[in-house]
Amino acid sequence: MSSSGRAPTQEQFLTVLSREDAARRFAEALRPAPLRRTEAALADALGLPLAADMRAPVDAPPFDRSGVDGFAVRAADLTEASEGSPARLLLNDETIACGVAPTIAVGPGRATPIATGGPIPRGADAVVMIEHTRPLDTPDGPAIAVRRAANPGQFVAFAGSDIARGETLLRAGTVIGAREIGMLAAVGIARVPVFAKPRVAVLSTGDELVAPGEALGPARIYDANGPVIAAAIAEAGCEPVPYGIVPDDPAALETALRRAHAECDAVVLSGGTSKGAGDLTYRGVGRLGAPGIVAHGVALKPGKPLCLAVCDGKAVVVLPGFPTSAMFTFHDMIAPVLRTLAGLPARAEASVRARVPVRIASEMGRTEYVMSALVEGEGGLVAYPTGKGSGSVTTFAQADGFLAVEALADALPAGAEVDVRLLTPQVRVPDLVIAGSHCTGLDAVLARLPGVSARVIAVGSLGGLAAAKRGECDLAPIHLLDPKSETYNAPFLAEGLELVSGWRRMQGVVFRAGDTRFAGRDAREAVAAVKGDLSCLMVGRNQGAGTRILLDGLLAGARPDGYWNQPRSHNAVAAAVAQGRADWGLAIAPVAEAYGLGFLPLAQEHYDFALVAARRERPGVAAFLAALEAPETHAALRALGFTPAPRS
Ligand code: AMP
Ligand code: MG
Repeated sequence: MSSSGRAPTQEQFLTVLSREDAARRFAEALRPAPLRRTEAALADALGLPLAADMRAPVDAPPFDRSGVDGFAVRAADLTEASEGSPARLLLNDETIACGVAPTIAVGPGRATPIATGGPIPRGADAVVMIEHTRPLDTPDGPAIAVRRAANPGQFVAFAGSDIARGETLLRAGTVIGAREIGMLAAVGIARVPVFAKPRVAVLSTGDELVAPGEALGPARIYDANGPVIAAAIAEAGCEPVPYGIVPDDPAALETALRRAHAECDAVVLSGGTSKGAGDLTYRGVGRLGAPGIVAHGVALKPGKPLCLAVCDGKAVVVLPGFPTSAMFTFHDMIAPVLRTLAGLPARAEASVRARVPVRIASEMGRTEYVMSALVEGEGGLVAYPTGKGSGSVTTFAQADGFLAVEALADALPAGAEVDVRLLTPQVRVPDLVIAGSHCTGLDAVLARLPGVSARVIAVGSLGGLAAAKRGECDLAPIHLLDPKSETYNAPFLAEGLELVSGWRRMQGVVFRAGDTRFAGRDAREAVAAVKGDLSCLMVGRNQGAGTRILLDGLLAGARPDGYWNQPRSHNAVAAAVAQGRADWGLAIAPVAEAYGLGFLPLAQEHYDFALVAARRERPGVAAFLAALEAPETHAALRALGFTPAPRS
């Protein structure tokens, strides 16, 4: 290909490469190496990798010095000294403070007062502590009585004993921190050779994107990728240079890309990767310089639309738009390359062995990444998938690491042992693990647990019960209605689980305030009146939700328009009604209030906790149970619209 940066042919786009082939082609085109060697003043070197081995130009300490306040002596004078018969030494007529060079030698029977850090005078070979001496007045002048024998070298720090001249202090590639700065300063080094941080441009593309801090219009979403990619670039030892949000417009994108490419050492762009929109980004990238795109389409899940290019020696990367896909691909494929450009050693890929609690289905033919949160199970770590799909932000934020299902497997069976690659330097096993259905009321309890690291894994009521039965969590928050007995939660407990009362959540009909079909009416009557009305659109709930059982009872077999629209949460129901996608649905009162919706009460839902009885005494669990009882917690729950359950 010529250096004119001709756009790659369309065929290249159609070839999906394996993860390894894509990484190899990227590396062959880029040949990553530390970008810039420079010299920095010690104070400016913090966080930068050393570009060369550093040798000590002087000894530290530079001379033999005293380690205590006392007297410089000759050990041979004190061999007989004891409590019963102290040795007597005449004092020389000088005192060696720090920074004072001695002038008088210590002869036999003599001593010189010396401070901690003072240079040992000629003739002396040990120091006695002032505490082991007593001042004496003698006809020959001031003297001391020494009550202890001394070994040669006692309390003397010899020259070079800390750092010897010529010794390699720090190796190239070491990231300079406070300790390193201390060592360099101690041997008088003021400037150090370092690798400068590569400047990496960050661009987000999409007409729908709004910068955090600005108002969100209809159908807009916040730019999550820009900030998270910038932070990840900084974590990889580079300097992120934000270029903000670029609209889905070829000319605007081309201008922004050219500027970023000219001004920075590398460019990371996200979005514009799905079909249709895709061509736009790729064509822009392909025109930036030679050789252009080297991989487009990688057999990763999530992350297939990843595009890797090298344009005139600079890496240009297009990450998938979905935040989780963007982070997987960045972490796996891009961060290692950026670390090399920054002069950092390869990240010691910390990983731990863990068991997967449930079967994880996977697509054949693609390396599939699964974000996982680690919890302590019976007999080792358990890796919980935190996946909510690649459109989710929390998937990444709640994870400790990720596991990979290899391209040739169609699933990981439950109980399989896997390597979890950690996203943080160490595993943080939480003090308290709560797996089940999430409720904003839970946050009010957790807020009263200072010092307890709690992990909440949102897996729904049934998922939580299963985790509790397997001993993988301490508590499972559940709200399950047994239609036969018409009671909540208790009928669902298995052996080893106890029910701890939580709170009640009023469920009812939500509607846009002022809708006269609902306002001021009784919930049951209002629903009976509208359920045959084709212009009144409802929103349903998913199978398995307690609210669904309530809803089906209310509809008594009717299936109004919108029933099959079945979101999985109270919030989604409220959002659909608030935004006019539907006119009514069932949700809990606090959510209705948060969305500014009208509310007709129907029935209390019980939100309780299935407690793994064997874990009751664990400190985190005990603290949670205490917080659940606290009057301040009850007040906080009431303020949120919940009713604490009567205590048994
Ligand atoms: P795209 O690749 O542009 O088609 O984007 C795929 C999905 O990711 C769409 O739902 C986008 O709205 C979303 N997305 C793209 N860029 C961002 C971003 N910077 N922050 C959050 N979501 C994004
Ligand atoms: Mg887009």
